[in-house]
This record gives sequence, structure tokens and C-alpha cells, in this order.
Amino acid sequence: MSLALGIFGGTFDPIHRGHVECARELQQRLGFNRLDLLPCHLPAHRSTPSSTSEHRLAMAQLAVEPLSGLGVDDRELRRGGPSYTADTLAEVRGELGDQASLTFVMGSDAYNSLHQWVRWQSLFEFANVLVMGRDGVAVEPDAAVMAYTEPRRMDAAELISKPSGAFAHITLQPWPQSATEVRRRLEAGEPLSGWLPEAVLDYISKHRLYC
Ligand code: ATP
Repeated sequence: MSLALGIFGGTFDPIHRGHVECARELQQRLGFNRLDLLPCHLPAHRSTPSSTSEHRLAMAQLAVEPLSGLGVDDRELRRGGPSYTADTLAEVRGELGDQASLTFVMGSDAYNSLHQWVRWQSLFEFANVLVMGRDGVAVEPDAAVMAYTEPRRMDAAELISKPSGAFAHITLQPWPQSATEVRRRLEAGEPLSGWLPEAVLDYISKHRLYC
């Protein structure tokens, strides 16, 4: 296999320690050549982000800058409009060619709503799908998603041997952070106790975000 690329989609409003630590562990354990965070422009299935795309992108870049093997893919922000993962993965697959391994990573809360995503089955046409457990969130997919993913299930450690079409779960070290709670604490002026990378916290203070 020539290249194994991982893509970790999210709103990152803002990026927090849970995102960063999960990405690091995944990149190291599964052996991706690169794992890119993919901030969405307008999430298709949730409310509009509090911060602009430019701020969310800048914070994601600051968070991964010191970490080798991690990057940020800004294509959904450049494209504008609603962010459909199916379109994004089709585009990335077109760039990578047929042989490279491409894996889309999502948390269990995102997986539980996968049946509401536009053309969700086509994610598997272009990529593998990896679901990481999230602290306190049960894995409870819709029946149609379960029926589709179970025959594709394999060991997460083997996932990058496949270019696309495979499915796996992985349990990582749990991280309690959520962007909702980060925003709430910032608005309330409560301490964040290490929940954000320092550079992200500095950026938020400098630009007076979430207050
Ligand atoms: P919000 O609280 O606004 O919903 P979030 O913290 O879930 O935000 P997102 O940008 O929506 O952040 O998350 C992107 C992806 O990262 C999702 O698939 C989500 O499940 C996953 N994720 C976020 N935080 C964690 C965490 N602490 N542990 C594991 N997965 C996480």
C-alpha cells in the first residue's frame, strides 16, 4: 500500500484537547502516513458554528502545527456552502488514485446520526470508516447503518490495508472534552484546566472569541 491517509472531520468550534489527543493516538496506533483534520464550512446536520470558518481553521492549524503526522485540510472551507462528506471524500479519492488507503474518522455520536448524512453509503465507496468511542456516548447506530456496516467490519489495526469499503471501531484513551462545554466555560469565564492547547487559548483571548 503506497499511502495511508486518515481524515478526521468536525466543526472544531473550537478544536480542543480531546480532538488533538484522539488524532495523535490514531495516527500512531494505526500507522497513517498522515491524518488530516477537516473542518467543515457549514455542517449539514447541526447548527451554524459560533466562530467563523477562518477562526476555526486558524485554531486547528495552531493545534496541530507542532505535531508530526497531523495536518489540516481546508478544502470544505474553500468550497463554501454546506459540507457534504460524500463530496469531499470523492474529491480526495480522485486526487489519491485507486490504490491509496483512505479512512474517514468519526466519533460515536457522529456515527449514531450517520443515517441522516447525505449519501452516507457512498462514504464507503471512497473510503474506509473508523468510529472511535467517545466517553459517555453509547454506540447506537440506526438499523440501516448497522445492516450496512456490520458485513464490512474488520479489526481497526487492519483497516489501512484496505483502500476503501471497510469499517471498524476503535477504543481510545477517553478524553472528556467537548466544544460545547468549552464554549460554555469561556462564556461563563470559568477555568478550562488544560482543555485547550495553549496556542488555541491564546488565539481565543486575542480575538475575544466565545465571550
Ligand atoms: P460539540 O460539543 O459542539 O458537539 P465536539 O466537541 O463534538 O463539538 P466536533 O468538532 O463536533 O467537536 O467533533 C468532531 C469529531 O470529534 C466528532 O466525530 C466527535 O464525535 C469527535 N470528538 C469530539 N470530542 C471528542 C472526544 N473528547 N473524544 C472522542 N471523540 C471526540
